[in-house]
Amino acid sequence: MNDFAGKPNAGMLHLLAAEPTLLPAAPLDADGETIEARRNENHTCLRCGKPATTALIADLDEHGKRWLDLCYDDFNLAREAN
Ligand SMILES: [Zn+2]
Repeated sequence: MNDFAGKPNAGMLHLLAAEPTLLPAAPLDADGETIEARRNENHTCLRCGKPATTALIADLDEHGKRWLDLCYDDFNLAREAN
């Protein structure tokens, strides 16, 4: 399973129902290690508030790169929405 890194589509943003500007900024040079570290920081899922097991990086153009912390279920939903 690869981590998603790139531009989210409209479906994904709708699914997350998040304001891009409220999402935490991700480092521009984030790599696999950065994502792994983020995943181990015990964030909560953006959608449901359960412990996040996955960290994605969305490239939101004018808003820069932002973290999307998701639990396993919502990660799968986001993947399917793509
Ligand atoms: Zn969730």
